[in-house]
Amino acid sequence: MRRHSNRVSIGGLTIGGTHPIVVQSMCNTATLDVESSVAQCVRLYAAGAGIIRLTTQGLTEVAAFAEIKSRLRQLKIATPLVADVHFLPEVAIAAAAVADKVRINPGNFAPNAEKGRASFFKLLEICNNHHTALRIGVNHGSLGIEALSRFGDTPQGMSWLAMQWLNMCKESNFDKVVVSMKSSNTRIMVAAYRELVAAMEAAEMAYPLHLGVTEAGNGREGRLKGTVAIATLLHQGIGDTIRVSLTEAPENEVIVGKSMVEYIKNHPLSHAPVTHLSYRLPSMEALTIAAACDAGPFLLDRKVADIGIDAEINGQPLSKEEGRDFVSDLLQAARCRFSKPEYIACPGCGRTLFDIEKSLEEVKAHTSHLKGLSIAVMGCMVNGPGEMADADWGYVGAGKGKVTLYRGQTPVLHSVPEREAPEALVKLIEALR
Ligand code: SF4
Repeated sequence: MRRHSNRVSIGGLTIGGTHPIVVQSMCNTATLDVESSVAQCVRLYAAGAGIIRLTTQGLTEVAAFAEIKSRLRQLKIATPLVADVHFLPEVAIAAAAVADKVRINPGNFAPNAEKGRASFFKLLEICNNHHTALRIGVNHGSLGIEALSRFGDTPQGMSWLAMQWLNMCKESNFDKVVVSMKSSNTRIMVAAYRELVAAMEAAEMAYPLHLGVTEAGNGREGRLKGTVAIATLLHQGIGDTIRVSLTEAPENEVIVGKSMVEYIKNHPLSHAPVTHLSYRLPSMEALTIAAACDAGPFLLDRKVADIGIDAEINGQPLSKEEGRDFVSDLLQAARCRFSKPEYIACPGCGRTLFDIEKSLEEVKAHTSHLKGLSIAVMGCMVNGPGEMADADWGYVGAGKGKVTLYRGQTPVLHSVPEREAPEALVKLIEALR
């Protein structure tokens, strides 16, 4: 049964309550590049995105955001637009006058809720005046000093942080709020949402939830990570809107998200734990989504530890090796067994100044033999190092066409040209591990 949640209107769209689950995505264009951003929004609209987010780092981006919104409305595209703000309360406040929704990351908005209180109440006032919704977007990698010192980077810390800011929303009777609790670790992500749902119920709050696994990477691995975790919660009735983050063209996120929601609607979770999967499907992508939806919740909740599969894809049976590789990826996505390096890669956004999709492919090609390591490929220095906190090695955008290589949280090689960086990363790992 679906969790009871408040209805929240975002522009002309309503989420929560019994409204259908909305699939959303985010532009990876520079917001100041209005032409490219409008073109990408049009493609996202055509792919079926219900909500589109744009990175809004400063006041100049707020002006560009307003221009993008106006151009889309002239094209009769009414898709709600969300301004994504991390560090500057004054930018969030300015964005609240032009966007349909503002996303803030409480761990970055202020050192703690007490210090952010005045700015946050101002933000709520502007949101109220302009009928703008708000997302409290907690990220596992950027919880802020206070949550970290009290709870460490745990699901409890994520929930505690969200509740600090939700309490302020409740105090000021502001109810156009959506919450998210993202992590690149699928188990932490699921635990954090469950923790928050329990905390909200105890506080008689029913804010709708935006689900997502952050920095999930690309290809089959990225799809499996996102789907395993999101499907576990959707099957439990938790979630009102979803984003499947992929380091790929954002339209692909919408295609995967829509397929997942449709699949779950038509295939309720089996009552008995699933230990063998059997399918006849038209594509590997369909298999990826079906298997992650059907088996993911049992693997993620440790009700089963391994799984068998037989499948026919477009009339062709899956070979033994293909089946084994597929199951390995599924088990890794649910964090049951690790047979490859773990890649943590952000989808890229307006802050990314190098070709992150190509870089991720190259880093994977150069490091696929390094089983047991976790390697992060992140688009920017602003959020990248914090968000890749769990990674052993990091490959982080450091300006136009430049990358800085990290060992854990320590930058080791600065401003390496992106062409040379994948090889430099392998050399570094081999020299220092
Ligand atoms: Fe954008 Fe990636 Fe930086 Fe996050 S880490 S702000 S998605 S470039």
